[in-house]
Amino acid sequence: MAPQTQVHFRKVALIGLGLIASSMAHAMRRHGLAGAISGHARTPETRAAALEIGLVDTVHDSAADAVQGADLVVLAVPIGAMEAVAREIAPHLAPGCTLTDVGSVKQAVIDAVAPHLPKGVHFIPGHPMAGTEHSGPYSGFATLFENRWWLLTPLPDSDPAAVARLRDFCQALGANVEEMDAPHHDLVVAVVSHTPHLIAYTMVGVADHLRRVSQSEVIKYSAAGFRDFTRIAASDPVMWRDVFLTNKEATLDILGRFTEELFVLQRAIRMGDGAYLHDYFTRTRAIRRGIIEAGQDTDAPDFGRAKRG
Ligand code: NAP
Repeated sequence: MAPQTQVHFRKVALIGLGLIASSMAHAMRRHGLAGAISGHARTPETRAAALEIGLVDTVHDSAADAVQGADLVVLAVPIGAMEAVAREIAPHLAPGCTLTDVGSVKQAVIDAVAPHLPKGVHFIPGHPMAGTEHSGPYSGFATLFENRWWLLTPLPDSDPAAVARLRDFCQALGANVEEMDAPHHDLVVAVVSHTPHLIAYTMVGVADHLRRVSQSEVIKYSAAGFRDFTRIAASDPVMWRDVFLTNKEATLDILGRFTEELFVLQRAIRMGDGAYLHDYFTRTRAIRRGIIEAGQDTDAPDFGRAKRG
């Protein structure tokens, strides 16, 4: 989506240089949103790669050095690393700068980051609802955020002008932006993202336990249903471990509802209740149509995943 106003930050610091940060870097370059981009990642290999690909203009051995003079700082590390990074950078943040993050859970990040920040820094948590099963500095691409949701969860005392500027920035990266409070965000993503991931992990785990099947037939006959589960279950283990550790309540709530629903379907199968199953699958089919009509997926057989830009 075209930005309403052309937003431009003088210097953007990316802390963490994986899928999300590298996609942001590509998109910022493409749309001219940053004067300069500095970066920091944990390992020398990732830092060197980021420089080599041209994701960043400067790369730094410490997060504290990377944020010097930045008017936008983005925390794009696993959720479990947010607190240590916030603690390290806090004394080095420029007064008046905007600090955001891209973590998949919001309340836990707010609890981890906010207490360390000095006054005058605009902390506006965010979550781009876009991703792939790939990670690392080479996995990013400029169109990752196009027509995807970027949820912002401003704090009650967030400066409206800073929020508006960040909103413009996310829109300029191609995203649609919505604001909500952190607990609501965490419940929504438990439904649309976190629990589905857990189910995919479980399904692939079940197949793996059936060793006789998994060693040959699962791969050989892998049909669309199972193949899609394996794609999701290939997602980064660190990221997803942190998601479930930090979005515990909402995920357990949705999982409880899921298992209740599963028992109802199990009973319908046992009782041979075809009408119930047909009715159920007709309703779920309508949800899929709604997602396609909303432009959140395509009905191409590969679900549009081959698309890169
Ligand atoms: P990623 O590709 O695995 O990249 C993570 C980056 O963080 C790497 O550059 C890593 O550096 C760095 N890092 C890890 N621990 C660090 C530490 N203690 N200090 C400094 N840097 C550290 O991950 P990602 O997919 O971009 O995810 C980043 C964040 O985005 C996560 O919070 C995740 O919840 C959120 N998110 C992910 C997706 C998705 O689908 N992937 C979607 C939306 C939001 P090294 O490479 O040197 O280890």
